[in-house]
Amino acid sequence: MEYEVVIGMEMHVELDTASKMFCACPADFFGAPPNTRTCPTCLGMPGALPVINARAVEHAMLLGLALNCKINTHTFWERKSYWYPDLPKGYQITQYQYPMCYDGYLDLDVRDLSAGWSDASYAKRVRIRRAHLEEDTGKLTHANGASFVDYNRSGVPLLEIVTEPDIFSAHEAYAYLSAIQDIVRYLGIASGDMEKGALRCEPNMSLRPKGSAAFGTKVEIKNLNSLRAVRDSVAYEIRRQTEVLNAGGTVRQVTMGWDDARGVTFVQRDKEDAHDYRYFPEPDLPALDVDDAWLAQVAARLRELPLAKQRRYQSDYGLSAYDASVLTMDRGIAEYFERAVAGGTAARAKTVSNWITTDLFRLMKGGATIGEVKVRPEQLGALVGLIESGAVNTTTARMVLEEMYASGADAAAIVSARGLGQINDLGALRAIVEEVVVGSPSQVAQYLAGQEKVLGYLVGQAMKATKGKGNAQVMGGLIREALEARRT
Ligand SMILES: [Zn+2]
Repeated sequence: MEYEVVIGMEMHVELDTASKMFCACPADFFGAPPNTRTCPTCLGMPGALPVINARAVEHAMLLGLALNCKINTHTFWERKSYWYPDLPKGYQITQYQYPMCYDGYLDLDVRDLSAGWSDASYAKRVRIRRAHLEEDTGKLTHANGASFVDYNRSGVPLLEIVTEPDIFSAHEAYAYLSAIQDIVRYLGIASGDMEKGALRCEPNMSLRPKGSAAFGTKVEIKNLNSLRAVRDSVAYEIRRQTEVLNAGGTVRQVTMGWDDARGVTFVQRDKEDAHDYRYFPEPDLPALDVDDAWLAQVAARLRELPLAKQRRYQSDYGLSAYDASVLTMDRGIAEYFERAVAGGTAARAKTVSNWITTDLFRLMKGGATIGEVKVRPEQLGALVGLIESGAVNTTTARMVLEEMYASGADAAAIVSARGLGQINDLGALRAIVEEVVVGSPSQVAQYLAGQEKVLGYLVGQAMKATKGKGNAQVMGGLIREALEARRT
């Protein structure tokens, strides 16, 4: 039988704020010694009172707006009761009945990227059921037969985003997740680093006979720490469950872990008992009301999102889907590109795009970020201008860029200081060409006998004679002219 997979995605995003969700402790705890970013509130001491972090509320609303959600302008906090060593209060403060954001959607371009880039893609909309604010728990580590708990993460602002079951393949899961990651980074509200656990995702999936409306048994996958792990674990589970069903078996409702090294899922725990979280209103916090002015202030921070930018680069500049996607993946690179093009033509944009994605990226290979690059975007634009006007050829420009990258100097200054200007003077070029042709009698004979490929050799010789500064295109024409003149 043929089956189709139905996936719903649950995601937790740690928000980038100076302090934690309900206390003044620093929210940035990465690398800090255990239990050094704590206070009575986030340690759950009796009598310690929480205070709402307005910045976290704004971040949540901003993401909600980016995901086309409705915003609950009146909401309140609730206690989700459960006990666990990493949750010292015995409950988590969250939004249950009235999530900050609800009923939204995210548009995607879905591609199969499992074997590298693919041009083929299709548009897809994933509905967002809700996105609510809550606080993160502490972290347990088990080692050498003991358990350790670190409360540095306890109380860090967390946004939980839940989709409708709208995702129908491993590639769609990947596309959804990477789009959310790009968006939170674009908006500057979260690092989105999966390796650091700052973005965590739990796909829940079930298989059903193709065309059936009922849902099959749900399996949840946890502890995924990369985009690739999400795609691969979902693909693996689809195969595994298909085999179980085809063999006449039934899928058990379990929570799975993912073994990245072996590329397999494993049962983490059975889900026989549903929790009763006994949600009730948090008595220590006031209701949260958002007025129009505050919402408008947040909305003003919305910016063009990666997919819209990518589509605009393709339609306005005629860039390929690949180039547009590479340039928009990182907001800093997109801004760099736009400043380097600065109202230029589509042709200029294409050239700039090539210089960024090939030469500049090659120079940045050591691990530099675009913000650290000494070449300002306007300077790269000026270098491309020199190529367009014929002042330097591409080979020279590549050399000049390397020097710009090292020193931050302007292209024009480097060209004039080192005498790298392209030789466009026809008289001078013709003299050089004549010399090369006279000095290469056997190649001339070959050409006249019909072997056109020696042209390339002769252009190379002429370029050498100009120390790489000759206008290769012009010299090619002159050489052909000189050779044709020798036909009798
Ligand atoms: Zn604290």
